Order: sequence, then C-alpha cells, then structure tokens
Amino acid sequence: MKIICTIKDKKIEDSCNVLLTHFNDQDFLNMVCLEKFSYTNDSGVEVARRIKIGPIAIQKIVAYKTKWPWSSVLGYYENNTYFLNTRKMDISVLDRAENLFHELVGHGCGYTHKEGKQDAESLNSVPYKSGEMFKSYIKSIGVLK
Ligand SMILES: [Zn+2]
Repeated sequence: MKIICTIKDKKIEDSCNVLLTHFNDQDFLNMVCLEKFSYTNDSGVEVARRIKIGPIAIQKIVAYKTKWPWSSVLGYYENNTYFLNTRKMDISVLDRAENLFHELVGHGCGYTHKEGKQDAESLNSVPYKSGEMFKSYIKSIGVLK
C-alpha cells in the first residue's frame, strides 16, 4: 500500500505509519479470517487475503474543511482519496489509524456499507468491523498508548 499524505501534521503522519506498518500483520489477518462480514459475499478468509494485498491504487490524503464549523465528520473517501476534515484534528493517533483503515483499506479494497446513518448490519461491514478490529489489535500490541 502506498499513501501520499499532503497534510503536514505529526499525528496524521504517525497514524499513517501505524497503518502502513501493521495493516497486514499476520496476527491481525488471522482474526479477520474468523469473521463474517455484511455487505459482501466474501468469506473472512477472502477478506483477509484482500486486505493482505491492500489497495492497488495509490491512496491520497488531502485536507478539506466542512462549511459547518461544528461538523463531527472526520472526512470522506472518494476516488482513492481521503478528504480529511481539518476541523476534526483533535482525535488520537489510534482513532485516526482506525479511521484511515476504514477508508483506505476497507473502502480502498472495494468494500462498502450503507450510506448515511449506520445500523448494526452496516457496522458489521468490512470497513467498520475490520477497522474496529484493527484498532483493538493495535491497542493489544502496545505500539500506541
Ligand atoms: Zn465508510
């Protein structure tokens, strides 16, 4: 996986490094293999195989700002580009890494979920569920406090 990050920010760079270093760790992929996901017919094993390869296209991270100053949106993903809302820079490296995994790996590998407000089934999609699993995995290996 290759990421071009156009935002100069220590926390975002750290999050990218955590993602790049660990997104296809075998211990993490072994857990993905055991899961069943919504919004795809792929088995857990197939999802893990897809994540292991990672997104084929180069992924880009660029800054944007929501019109609404109090927007809680972290960003959105389109055309292999993650538009990161610079009004929401106050999140931890761990939470950002989860969000980057969701967008760049989950969606970057072609997996989807419902748009708009998320329900239980949507939260069981590859982007949401494997993103959450990635966060737990990163916590468990202790590379981030
Ligand atoms: Zn998503």
